[in-house]
Amino acid sequence: MDNGIVYLVGAGPGDPGLLTVKGLECIRTGDVIIYDFLVNISLISEVRKDAEVLYVGKQGGDHTLEQGEINKLIVKKAQEGKTIVRLKGGDPYVFGRGGEEALFLLENNIPFEVVPGITAAIATPAYAGIPVTFRRYTSTFALITGHEDPTKPDSDIDWAKISSGIGTLTFYMGVKNLPFIVKQLTDNGRAKETPAAVIRWGTRSKQETVVGTLENIVEKAKNIKAPAITIVGEVVTLRDKLNWFEKKQLFGKTIVVTRSRDQASDFSQKLVKLGAEVIEFPTIDIVEPDDFKPMDDEIEKLGENDWLIFTSVNGVDAFFNRIFDLGKDIRDLKGVQICAIGPATSKRITDLHLRVDCQPPKYVAESIVEEFKKLGDIKGKRFLTPRADIARSYLPDQLRAMGGEVFDIVAYKTVIAEPRDLKIVDKIKNGEINVVTFTSSSTVRNFVEIIGKENVSAVNDNVKCASIGPITTDTAKELGVNISIEADEYTIPGLVDAVIKTL
Ligand code: SAH
Repeated sequence: MDNGIVYLVGAGPGDPGLLTVKGLECIRTGDVIIYDFLVNISLISEVRKDAEVLYVGKQGGDHTLEQGEINKLIVKKAQEGKTIVRLKGGDPYVFGRGGEEALFLLENNIPFEVVPGITAAIATPAYAGIPVTFRRYTSTFALITGHEDPTKPDSDIDWAKISSGIGTLTFYMGVKNLPFIVKQLTDNGRAKETPAAVIRWGTRSKQETVVGTLENIVEKAKNIKAPAITIVGEVVTLRDKLNWFEKKQLFGKTIVVTRSRDQASDFSQKLVKLGAEVIEFPTIDIVEPDDFKPMDDEIEKLGENDWLIFTSVNGVDAFFNRIFDLGKDIRDLKGVQICAIGPATSKRITDLHLRVDCQPPKYVAESIVEEFKKLGDIKGKRFLTPRADIARSYLPDQLRAMGGEVFDIVAYKTVIAEPRDLKIVDKIKNGEINVVTFTSSSTVRNFVEIIGKENVSAVNDNVKCASIGPITTDTAKELGVNISIEADEYTIPGLVDAVIKTL
Protein backbone atom coordinates (compact mmCIF):
# COMPACT_ATOMS: atom_id res chain seq x y z
CA MET A 1 0.00 0.00 0.00
CA ASP A 2 1.22 3.51 -0.74
CA ASN A 3 2.05 5.63 2.25
CA GLY A 4 -0.46 8.27 3.25
CA ILE A 5 0.44 11.88 3.91
CA VAL A 6 0.97 13.73 7.15
CA TYR A 7 -0.06 17.35 7.69
CA LEU A 8 1.74 18.99 10.57
CA VAL A 9 -0.89 21.55 11.46
CA GLY A 10 -0.71 24.49 13.85
CA ALA A 11 -3.99 24.73 15.73
CA GLY A 12 -3.30 28.27 16.89
CA PRO A 13 -3.14 29.51 20.47
CA GLY A 14 -6.57 28.48 21.77
CA ASP A 15 -9.33 30.72 20.41
CA PRO A 16 -10.77 28.29 17.86
CA GLY A 17 -11.20 31.15 15.39
CA LEU A 18 -7.42 31.54 15.24
CA LEU A 19 -6.95 28.43 13.14
CA THR A 20 -5.95 28.91 9.51
CA VAL A 21 -8.38 28.12 6.70
CA LYS A 22 -5.97 25.47 5.48
CA GLY A 23 -5.70 23.96 8.96
CA LEU A 24 -9.49 23.73 9.19
CA GLU A 25 -9.66 22.02 5.84
CA CYS A 26 -7.12 19.44 7.08
CA ILE A 27 -9.10 18.80 10.27
CA ARG A 28 -12.33 18.40 8.29
CA THR A 29 -10.88 15.93 5.82
CA GLY A 30 -8.24 13.91 7.72
CA ASP A 31 -8.60 10.17 8.41
CA VAL A 32 -6.65 10.30 11.65
CA ILE A 33 -6.29 13.32 13.93
CA ILE A 34 -3.49 13.18 16.49
CA TYR A 35 -3.60 16.14 18.86
CA ASP A 36 -1.88 17.66 21.87
CA PHE A 37 -2.79 19.18 25.21
CA LEU A 38 -2.74 22.79 24.04
CA VAL A 39 -5.17 22.23 21.16
CA ASN A 40 -8.62 23.61 21.90
CA ILE A 41 -10.82 20.54 22.07
CA SER A 42 -13.64 22.39 20.33
CA LEU A 43 -11.68 22.06 17.07
CA ILE A 44 -12.10 18.32 17.35
CA SER A 45 -15.82 18.72 16.73
CA GLU A 46 -14.85 19.61 13.15
CA VAL A 47 -13.47 16.15 12.38
CA ARG A 48 -15.28 13.73 10.10
CA LYS A 49 -17.69 11.46 11.94
CA ASP A 50 -15.67 8.40 10.96
CA ALA A 51 -12.24 9.91 11.64
CA GLU A 52 -10.00 8.35 14.24
CA VAL A 53 -9.10 10.86 16.94
CA LEU A 54 -6.09 10.24 19.17
CA TYR A 55 -4.95 12.38 22.10
CA VAL A 56 -1.21 12.24 22.78
CA GLY A 57 -0.94 15.31 25.01
CA LYS A 58 1.76 16.20 27.46
CA GLN A 59 0.53 18.13 30.44
CA GLY A 60 3.40 19.34 32.64
CA GLY A 61 5.45 16.21 33.26
CA ASP A 62 2.59 13.85 32.43
CA HIS A 63 3.14 12.33 29.03
CA THR A 64 0.34 10.32 27.51
CA LEU A 65 2.92 9.13 25.01
CA GLU A 66 6.67 9.83 24.83
CA GLN A 67 7.85 11.77 21.77
CA GLY A 68 9.44 8.65 20.28
CA GLU A 69 6.16 6.79 20.62
CA ILE A 70 4.26 9.66 19.01
CA ASN A 71 6.66 9.62 16.06
CA LYS A 72 6.15 5.89 15.61
CA LEU A 73 2.40 6.19 15.89
CA ILE A 74 2.25 8.84 13.16
CA VAL A 75 4.41 6.72 10.86
CA LYS A 76 2.38 3.58 11.53
CA LYS A 77 -0.90 5.31 10.67
CA ALA A 78 0.60 6.89 7.55
CA GLN A 79 1.87 3.50 6.43
CA GLU A 80 -1.76 2.35 6.43
CA GLY A 81 -2.24 4.79 3.55
CA LYS A 82 -4.18 7.28 5.64
CA THR A 83 -4.20 11.07 5.74
CA ILE A 84 -2.88 12.08 9.13
CA VAL A 85 -3.42 15.44 10.73
CA ARG A 86 -0.85 16.05 13.42
CA LEU A 87 -2.44 18.91 15.28
CA LYS A 88 -0.30 20.98 17.63
CA GLY A 89 -0.92 24.07 19.72
CA GLY A 90 0.26 27.36 18.19
CA ASP A 91 2.72 26.74 15.38
CA PRO A 92 4.14 23.26 14.85
CA TYR A 93 7.69 24.55 14.36
CA VAL A 94 7.81 26.89 17.34
CA PHE A 95 8.88 24.86 20.38
CA GLY A 96 6.52 22.18 19.18
CA ARG A 97 8.85 19.30 18.23
CA GLY A 98 7.39 19.62 14.74
CA GLY A 99 10.87 19.65 13.23
CA GLU A 100 11.73 16.32 14.85
CA GLU A 101 8.49 14.77 13.65
CA ALA A 102 9.10 16.01 10.11
CA LEU A 103 12.63 14.56 10.08
CA PHE A 104 11.32 11.23 11.32
CA LEU A 105 8.71 11.21 8.55
CA LEU A 106 11.41 11.98 6.00
CA GLU A 107 13.51 9.06 7.27
CA ASN A 108 10.51 6.81 6.84
CA ASN A 109 9.66 8.06 3.36
CA ILE A 110 6.33 9.51 4.45
CA PRO A 111 5.31 12.65 2.56
CA PHE A 112 4.39 15.59 4.75
CA GLU A 113 3.27 19.21 4.58
CA VAL A 114 3.38 21.91 7.23
CA VAL A 115 0.46 24.22 7.95
CA PRO A 116 1.80 27.01 10.17
CA GLY A 117 -0.27 28.29 13.05
CA ILE A 118 -0.42 31.48 15.05
CA THR A 119 2.11 31.04 17.79
CA ALA A 120 1.45 31.88 21.43
CA ALA A 121 4.07 34.65 21.65
CA ILE A 122 2.21 36.66 19.02
CA ALA A 123 -1.43 35.87 19.78
CA THR A 124 -1.34 35.80 23.55
CA PRO A 125 0.10 39.30 24.06
CA ALA A 126 -2.26 40.61 21.36
CA TYR A 127 -5.24 39.31 23.35
CA ALA A 128 -3.78 40.84 26.49
CA GLY A 129 -3.49 44.26 24.83
CA ILE A 130 0.25 44.10 24.08
CA PRO A 131 1.67 44.58 20.56
CA VAL A 132 4.95 42.67 20.40
CA THR A 133 6.65 45.42 18.40
CA PHE A 134 5.97 49.14 18.50
CA ARG A 135 7.95 51.83 16.76
CA ARG A 136 8.74 54.01 19.72
CA TYR A 137 9.67 51.13 22.01
CA THR A 138 11.32 48.38 20.06
CA SER A 139 12.17 47.03 16.65
CA THR A 140 13.24 43.59 17.85
CA PHE A 141 11.33 40.69 19.25
CA ALA A 142 12.58 37.27 20.34
CA LEU A 143 10.95 33.91 21.07
CA ILE A 144 12.90 32.11 23.75
CA THR A 145 12.46 28.85 25.60
CA GLY A 146 12.11 29.31 29.33
CA HIS A 147 12.41 25.60 29.85
CA GLU A 148 16.18 25.35 30.02
CA ASP A 149 17.51 23.54 33.02
CA PRO A 150 18.95 26.30 35.24
CA THR A 151 21.60 23.89 36.55
CA LYS A 152 22.93 23.21 33.06
CA PRO A 153 26.50 24.60 32.97
CA ASP A 154 26.43 25.89 29.37
CA SER A 155 23.23 27.61 28.42
CA ASP A 156 22.14 27.64 24.78
CA ILE A 157 20.77 31.08 25.50
CA ASP A 158 23.19 33.94 25.33
CA TRP A 159 21.69 35.86 28.23
CA ALA A 160 24.11 38.76 27.96
CA LYS A 161 23.12 39.40 24.35
CA ILE A 162 19.39 38.95 24.64
CA SER A 163 19.15 40.94 27.85
CA SER A 164 20.61 44.06 26.32
CA GLY A 165 20.33 43.47 22.57
CA ILE A 166 16.64 42.78 22.06
CA GLY A 167 13.60 44.88 22.88
CA THR A 168 10.70 42.50 23.39
CA LEU A 169 11.48 39.12 24.89
CA THR A 170 8.92 36.34 25.08
CA PHE A 171 9.48 33.14 27.02
CA TYR A 172 7.65 29.88 26.37
CA MET A 173 7.39 27.20 29.05
CA GLY A 174 8.91 29.58 31.56
CA VAL A 175 6.53 29.49 34.51
CA LYS A 176 8.64 27.36 36.83
CA ASN A 177 11.83 29.10 35.76
CA LEU A 178 10.50 32.63 36.07
CA PRO A 179 12.80 33.53 39.00
CA PHE A 180 15.78 32.18 37.05
CA ILE A 181 14.80 34.04 33.87
CA VAL A 182 14.36 37.32 35.70
CA LYS A 183 17.67 36.92 37.50
CA GLN A 184 19.52 36.20 34.25
CA LEU A 185 18.02 39.27 32.61
CA THR A 186 18.75 41.66 35.48
CA ASP A 187 22.22 40.20 36.12
CA ASN A 188 22.96 40.80 32.47
CA GLY A 189 22.00 44.43 32.41
CA ARG A 190 18.25 44.65 31.84
CA ALA A 191 16.80 47.37 34.05
CA LYS A 192 14.75 46.23 37.03
CA GLU A 193 12.04 48.70 36.00
CA THR A 194 11.45 46.94 32.66
CA PRO A 195 7.75 46.12 32.34
CA ALA A 196 6.84 42.44 32.20
CA ALA A 197 3.65 40.40 31.95
CA VAL A 198 2.73 36.77 32.37
CA ILE A 199 -0.27 35.56 30.37
CA ARG A 200 -1.88 32.22 31.07
CA TRP A 201 -4.23 30.43 28.65
CA GLY A 202 -4.01 33.39 26.29
CA THR A 203 -6.80 33.90 23.73
CA ARG A 204 -9.13 31.64 25.72
CA SER A 205 -11.92 32.94 27.89
CA LYS A 206 -9.95 31.77 30.93
CA GLN A 207 -7.03 34.03 29.98
CA GLU A 208 -5.25 35.46 33.04
CA THR A 209 -2.81 38.33 32.81
CA VAL A 210 -0.46 39.59 35.48
CA VAL A 211 1.54 42.75 34.89
CA GLY A 212 4.55 44.10 36.76
CA THR A 213 8.23 44.84 36.29
CA LEU A 214 11.28 42.61 36.43
CA GLU A 215 11.56 43.66 40.06
CA ASN A 216 8.17 42.33 41.15
CA ILE A 217 6.82 40.02 38.45
CA VAL A 218 8.01 36.85 40.23
CA GLU A 219 6.04 37.75 43.31
CA LYS A 220 3.01 38.96 41.36
CA ALA A 221 2.85 35.88 39.14
CA LYS A 222 3.52 33.36 41.88
CA ASN A 223 0.04 31.81 41.54
CA ILE A 224 0.17 31.55 37.75
CA LYS A 225 0.60 28.04 36.46
CA ALA A 226 1.49 26.72 33.00
CA PRO A 227 0.70 27.23 30.18
CA ALA A 228 1.80 30.83 30.20
CA ILE A 229 3.87 33.20 28.10
CA THR A 230 6.12 35.72 29.77
CA ILE A 231 6.69 38.95 27.89
CA VAL A 232 9.33 41.48 28.85
CA GLY A 233 9.74 44.96 27.38
CA GLU A 234 8.35 48.48 27.18
CA VAL A 235 5.51 47.30 24.92
CA VAL A 236 3.80 45.83 28.00
CA THR A 237 2.79 49.36 29.07
CA LEU A 238 0.49 49.62 26.03
CA ARG A 239 -1.84 47.16 27.71
CA ASP A 240 -3.33 49.97 29.78
CA LYS A 241 -4.82 51.38 26.60
CA LEU A 242 -5.07 48.44 24.23
CA ASN A 243 -6.58 45.74 26.39
CA TRP A 244 -9.69 44.74 24.43
CA PHE A 245 -10.32 41.01 24.83
CA GLU A 246 -10.64 40.88 28.60
CA LYS A 247 -13.37 43.54 28.39
CA LYS A 248 -15.76 41.36 26.39
CA GLN A 249 -19.18 40.81 27.94
CA LEU A 250 -18.81 37.08 28.50
CA PHE A 251 -15.05 37.05 29.09
CA GLY A 252 -14.09 34.52 31.75
CA LYS A 253 -17.37 32.62 31.49
CA THR A 254 -17.57 28.98 30.52
CA ILE A 255 -20.86 27.97 28.98
CA VAL A 256 -22.13 24.51 28.12
CA VAL A 257 -24.18 24.07 24.94
CA THR A 258 -26.35 20.96 25.01
CA ARG A 259 -27.90 21.14 21.52
CA SER A 260 -27.21 18.49 18.93
CA ARG A 261 -23.81 18.61 17.31
CA ASP A 262 -25.27 19.77 13.99
CA GLN A 263 -27.10 22.67 15.57
CA ALA A 264 -24.61 23.79 18.18
CA SER A 265 -22.19 25.80 16.10
CA ASP A 266 -24.34 28.84 15.43
CA PHE A 267 -25.12 29.22 19.12
CA SER A 268 -21.52 28.49 20.18
CA GLN A 269 -20.12 31.04 17.75
CA LYS A 270 -22.34 33.75 19.17
CA LEU A 271 -21.10 32.99 22.68
CA VAL A 272 -17.45 32.76 21.64
CA LYS A 273 -17.73 36.11 19.88
CA LEU A 274 -18.78 37.63 23.19
CA GLY A 275 -15.65 36.22 24.83
CA ALA A 276 -17.08 33.06 26.41
CA GLU A 277 -15.47 29.65 26.46
CA VAL A 278 -17.94 27.12 25.10
CA ILE A 279 -18.09 23.45 25.91
CA GLU A 280 -20.24 21.60 23.43
CA PHE A 281 -21.92 18.71 25.17
CA PRO A 282 -24.47 17.41 22.69
CA THR A 283 -27.32 15.61 24.42
CA ILE A 284 -29.36 14.94 21.30
CA ASP A 285 -28.75 13.21 18.02
CA ILE A 286 -31.10 13.78 15.12
CA VAL A 287 -31.81 10.58 13.20
CA GLU A 288 -34.17 9.35 10.50
CA PRO A 289 -37.65 8.15 11.45
CA ASP A 290 -38.05 4.40 11.96
CA ASP A 291 -40.58 4.31 9.17
CA PHE A 292 -40.65 6.72 6.24
CA LYS A 293 -44.00 5.50 4.94
CA PRO A 294 -46.30 7.97 6.75
CA MET A 295 -44.17 10.90 5.56
CA ASP A 296 -43.82 9.49 2.04
CA ASP A 297 -47.60 8.98 1.77
CA GLU A 298 -48.13 12.58 2.82
CA ILE A 299 -45.54 13.86 0.38
CA GLU A 300 -47.51 12.13 -2.40
CA LYS A 301 -50.52 14.26 -1.39
CA LEU A 302 -48.56 17.42 -0.75
CA GLY A 303 -50.71 19.68 -2.92
CA GLU A 304 -53.89 18.76 -1.05
CA ASN A 305 -52.80 20.63 2.04
CA ASP A 306 -53.86 24.11 2.98
CA TRP A 307 -51.05 24.58 5.46
CA LEU A 308 -47.64 23.13 6.10
CA ILE A 309 -46.47 23.91 9.64
CA PHE A 310 -42.84 23.64 10.72
CA THR A 311 -41.90 23.80 14.37
CA SER A 312 -38.13 23.34 13.99
CA VAL A 313 -35.22 23.77 11.61
CA ASN A 314 -34.70 20.02 11.79
CA GLY A 315 -38.26 19.49 10.57
CA VAL A 316 -37.60 21.71 7.55
CA ASP A 317 -34.37 19.88 6.72
CA ALA A 318 -35.81 16.40 7.15
CA PHE A 319 -38.96 17.13 5.17
CA PHE A 320 -37.38 18.87 2.20
CA ASN A 321 -34.54 16.36 1.99
CA ARG A 322 -37.14 13.63 1.76
CA ILE A 323 -39.13 15.47 -0.90
CA PHE A 324 -35.98 15.72 -2.96
CA ASP A 325 -34.99 12.07 -2.31
CA LEU A 326 -38.39 11.02 -3.64
CA GLY A 327 -37.71 12.80 -6.90
CA LYS A 328 -39.97 15.74 -6.17
CA ASP A 329 -39.17 19.37 -5.47
CA ILE A 330 -40.72 22.59 -4.22
CA ARG A 331 -42.93 22.89 -7.31
CA ASP A 332 -45.10 20.22 -5.68
CA LEU A 333 -45.94 22.70 -2.95
CA LYS A 334 -47.99 24.94 -5.22
CA GLY A 335 -50.88 26.50 -3.36
CA VAL A 336 -49.82 25.27 0.09
CA GLN A 337 -49.31 27.96 2.70
CA ILE A 338 -46.39 27.72 5.08
CA CYS A 339 -46.20 28.52 8.77
CA ALA A 340 -42.91 28.54 10.73
CA ILE A 341 -42.68 28.67 14.51
CA GLY A 342 -39.90 31.26 14.73
CA PRO A 343 -37.19 33.19 12.93
CA ALA A 344 -34.61 30.36 12.64
CA THR A 345 -37.17 27.99 11.12
CA SER A 346 -38.42 30.77 8.84
CA LYS A 347 -34.90 31.50 7.70
CA ARG A 348 -34.34 27.85 6.75
CA ILE A 349 -37.50 28.02 4.64
CA THR A 350 -36.70 31.32 2.97
CA ASP A 351 -33.21 29.96 2.23
CA LEU A 352 -35.08 27.53 -0.05
CA HIS A 353 -36.64 30.56 -1.74
CA LEU A 354 -40.02 29.75 -0.27
CA ARG A 355 -42.04 32.47 1.39
CA VAL A 356 -43.32 32.02 4.94
CA ASP A 357 -46.99 32.99 5.18
CA CYS A 358 -47.28 32.94 8.94
CA GLN A 359 -44.87 33.26 11.84
CA PRO A 360 -46.41 33.75 15.29
CA PRO A 361 -45.23 36.58 17.56
CA LYS A 362 -44.15 34.17 20.29
CA TYR A 363 -42.14 31.20 19.16
CA VAL A 364 -44.16 28.40 20.78
CA ALA A 365 -46.97 26.12 19.59
CA GLU A 366 -49.47 28.06 21.71
CA SER A 367 -48.76 31.16 19.69
CA ILE A 368 -49.25 29.29 16.38
CA VAL A 369 -52.69 28.23 17.58
CA GLU A 370 -53.52 31.84 18.48
CA GLU A 371 -52.53 32.96 14.99
CA PHE A 372 -54.82 30.39 13.36
CA LYS A 373 -57.65 31.54 15.59
CA LYS A 374 -57.11 35.03 14.24
CA LEU A 375 -56.96 33.84 10.65
CA GLY A 376 -60.60 32.74 10.81
CA ASP A 377 -62.45 29.49 10.38
CA ILE A 378 -60.15 26.52 9.81
CA LYS A 379 -62.92 23.94 9.64
CA GLY A 380 -62.12 21.32 7.00
CA LYS A 381 -58.72 22.80 6.28
CA ARG A 382 -55.87 20.32 5.83
CA PHE A 383 -52.69 20.78 7.90
CA LEU A 384 -49.46 18.86 7.56
CA THR A 385 -47.02 19.05 10.48
CA PRO A 386 -43.67 17.33 9.87
CA ARG A 387 -42.20 17.20 13.35
CA ALA A 388 -40.03 15.27 15.81
CA ASP A 389 -41.21 11.92 17.14
CA ILE A 390 -41.39 13.42 20.63
CA ALA A 391 -43.06 16.72 19.73
CA ARG A 392 -45.88 17.79 22.07
CA SER A 393 -49.39 16.91 20.95
CA TYR A 394 -50.68 20.40 21.81
CA LEU A 395 -50.53 21.80 18.28
CA PRO A 396 -52.38 18.99 16.43
CA ASP A 397 -54.84 18.61 19.31
CA GLN A 398 -55.80 22.28 19.27
CA LEU A 399 -56.04 22.55 15.50
CA ARG A 400 -58.27 19.46 15.45
CA ALA A 401 -60.43 20.93 18.21
CA MET A 402 -60.90 23.95 15.97
CA GLY A 403 -62.11 21.70 13.16
CA GLY A 404 -58.87 21.35 11.20
CA GLU A 405 -57.76 18.09 9.64
CA VAL A 406 -54.23 17.53 10.92
CA PHE A 407 -51.68 15.06 9.58
CA ASP A 408 -48.97 14.99 12.19
CA ILE A 409 -46.05 13.01 10.79
CA VAL A 410 -42.65 12.06 12.17
CA ALA A 411 -40.04 13.73 9.97
CA TYR A 412 -37.10 12.97 12.26
CA LYS A 413 -36.33 11.35 15.54
CA THR A 414 -34.38 12.78 18.44
CA VAL A 415 -32.38 10.26 20.38
CA ILE A 416 -30.06 10.62 23.31
CA ALA A 417 -26.53 11.43 22.15
CA GLU A 418 -23.43 9.26 22.32
CA PRO A 419 -20.57 9.28 23.11
CA ARG A 420 -20.60 11.02 26.45
CA ASP A 421 -17.74 12.80 28.08
CA LEU A 422 -18.62 12.63 31.73
CA LYS A 423 -15.77 14.89 32.76
CA ILE A 424 -18.47 17.54 32.51
CA VAL A 425 -19.77 16.46 35.93
CA ASP A 426 -16.35 17.01 37.53
CA LYS A 427 -16.08 20.37 35.82
CA ILE A 428 -19.47 21.37 37.22
CA LYS A 429 -18.51 20.22 40.71
CA ASN A 430 -15.15 22.03 40.53
CA GLY A 431 -16.80 25.31 39.61
CA GLU A 432 -15.20 25.36 36.16
CA ILE A 433 -18.54 26.00 34.45
CA ASN A 434 -20.71 29.08 34.81
CA VAL A 435 -23.79 28.32 32.73
CA VAL A 436 -25.48 25.26 31.23
CA THR A 437 -27.90 26.16 28.43
CA PHE A 438 -31.01 24.26 27.39
CA THR A 439 -32.64 24.96 24.05
CA SER A 440 -35.48 22.44 24.21
CA SER A 441 -37.18 20.11 26.66
CA SER A 442 -35.30 17.13 25.29
CA THR A 443 -31.95 18.77 25.93
CA VAL A 444 -32.84 19.00 29.63
CA ARG A 445 -34.27 15.51 29.78
CA ASN A 446 -31.28 13.95 28.07
CA PHE A 447 -28.79 16.03 30.05
CA VAL A 448 -30.24 14.75 33.31
CA GLU A 449 -30.28 11.22 32.01
CA ILE A 450 -26.65 11.43 30.88
CA ILE A 451 -25.21 12.99 34.03
CA GLY A 452 -27.52 10.99 36.31
CA LYS A 453 -30.28 12.24 38.62
CA GLU A 454 -27.88 12.04 41.54
CA ASN A 455 -25.84 14.90 40.02
CA VAL A 456 -28.72 17.33 39.55
CA SER A 457 -28.11 18.92 42.96
CA ALA A 458 -24.47 19.55 42.01
CA VAL A 459 -25.75 21.35 38.92
CA ASN A 460 -28.14 23.46 41.00
CA ASP A 461 -25.42 24.30 43.53
CA ASN A 462 -22.61 25.17 41.14
CA VAL A 463 -23.92 26.56 37.88
CA LYS A 464 -26.66 28.75 36.49
CA CYS A 465 -29.03 26.98 34.13
CA ALA A 466 -30.45 28.93 31.20
CA SER A 467 -33.60 28.02 29.28
CA ILE A 468 -34.81 29.14 25.88
CA GLY A 469 -38.42 29.49 26.99
CA PRO A 470 -41.28 28.46 29.30
CA ILE A 471 -41.81 24.94 27.92
CA THR A 472 -38.16 24.05 28.43
CA THR A 473 -38.26 25.69 31.86
CA ASP A 474 -41.26 23.56 32.87
CA THR A 475 -39.50 20.38 31.84
CA ALA A 476 -36.44 21.45 33.83
CA LYS A 477 -38.59 22.12 36.90
CA GLU A 478 -40.18 18.68 36.64
CA LEU A 479 -36.71 17.17 36.65
CA GLY A 480 -35.55 19.24 39.60
CA VAL A 481 -33.23 21.47 37.57
CA ASN A 482 -33.36 25.10 38.74
CA ILE A 483 -33.59 27.56 35.90
CA SER A 484 -32.21 30.98 36.79
CA ILE A 485 -32.02 32.45 33.30
CA GLU A 486 -34.93 32.39 30.86
CA ALA A 487 -35.01 34.04 27.45
CA ASP A 488 -37.64 36.76 26.89
CA GLU A 489 -37.65 35.99 23.21
CA TYR A 490 -37.67 32.24 22.64
CA THR A 491 -34.78 32.11 20.21
CA ILE A 492 -31.03 31.57 20.36
CA PRO A 493 -30.31 35.33 20.16
CA GLY A 494 -32.94 35.77 22.90
CA LEU A 495 -31.16 33.20 25.05
CA VAL A 496 -27.78 34.86 24.45
CA ASP A 497 -29.25 38.22 25.54
CA ALA A 498 -30.67 36.68 28.70
CA VAL A 499 -27.29 35.11 29.56
CA ILE A 500 -25.51 38.44 29.06
CA LYS A 501 -28.04 40.24 31.26
CA THR A 502 -27.73 37.75 34.08
CA LEU A 503 -23.96 37.22 34.19
N1 SAH B 1 3.92 25.38 19.45
C1 SAH B 1 3.39 26.23 20.49
C2 SAH B 1 4.29 26.26 21.71
C3 SAH B 1 4.43 24.94 22.39
S1 SAH B 1 5.44 25.02 23.81
C4 SAH B 1 3.17 27.63 19.92
O1 SAH B 1 3.62 27.92 18.81
O2 SAH B 1 2.54 28.44 20.59
C5 SAH B 1 4.25 25.20 25.09
C6 SAH B 1 4.30 26.60 25.66
O3 SAH B 1 3.67 27.51 24.79
C7 SAH B 1 3.55 26.76 26.95
O4 SAH B 1 4.29 26.32 28.06
C8 SAH B 1 3.33 28.25 26.98
O5 SAH B 1 4.50 28.91 27.37
C9 SAH B 1 3.09 28.55 25.52
N2 SAH B 1 1.67 28.62 25.20
C10 SAH B 1 1.04 27.94 24.24
N3 SAH B 1 -0.25 28.30 24.17
C11 SAH B 1 -0.43 29.24 25.10
C12 SAH B 1 -1.53 30.03 25.52
N4 SAH B 1 -2.73 29.90 24.96
N5 SAH B 1 -1.36 30.91 26.52
C13 SAH B 1 -0.16 31.07 27.09
N6 SAH B 1 0.91 30.35 26.75
C14 SAH B 1 0.79 29.46 25.76
